Amino acid sequence: MSVQSLRPCPFCGGSEVWINGDIDPKFVVCKECSAFGPNAPTVKQAAERWNKRITP
Ligand SMILES: [Zn+2]
Repeated sequence: MSVQSLRPCPFCGGSEVWINGDIDPKFVVCKECSAFGPNAPTVKQAAERWNKRITP
């Protein structure tokens, strides 16, 4: 599975973020502070929502 680029974590600024695509719903998780992003039905949307949330 290809993972599209994700923005750094908005909480800790860490770049160790990954998409949990093995369960439903999908969501992005930060490895450094365990923050997680908005739920989405697909990996692509989870990534988009994660990136969108960080934009002011
Ligand atoms: Zn974080």
